[in-house]
Amino acid sequence: MSYDVKYDSGNVFAKILRGEIPCSKVYEDQHVLAFKDIRPQAKVHALVIPKGAYVSAQDFGEKASDQEIAAVQRAISKVAKDLGVDKTGYRLIANSGAHGHQEVPHYHVHILGGQPIGKMVSLP
Ligand code: AMP
Repeated sequence: MSYDVKYDSGNVFAKILRGEIPCSKVYEDQHVLAFKDIRPQAKVHALVIPKGAYVSAQDFGEKASDQEIAAVQRAISKVAKDLGVDKTGYRLIANSGAHGHQEVPHYHVHILGGQPIGKMVSLP
């Protein structure tokens, strides 16, 4: 997948945004929804997504408004604090496109914490 792929409104996060499937919501505002990852990889694992239809980090950075971009970053800090990892630290991951191993084609940022997260990357 690459950033110029057309947005697929059938993706699972689009369905969550439309209320068609449930999520474990941790934060919401005008531009952002955040919820717990359904298959947590750490004691704390949340996803922060823009409400706008952006495929990837690349797409978001190229097309989103300054307000949307700021809202995602503000939400990350708010969610990290609400989930109690603001002081202990956490890892942010935004898998983007094929080489980034992105599985859900709606831009999202993972917040991973609640325990040491280990080395930054391990290449195959
Ligand atoms: P990525 O590989 O960065 O695209 O990650 C997609 C993430 O979405 C994975 O960590 C999944 O566990 C998570 N995920 C998939 N479906 C759901 C869902 N219905 N609710 C919450 N998280 C989900």
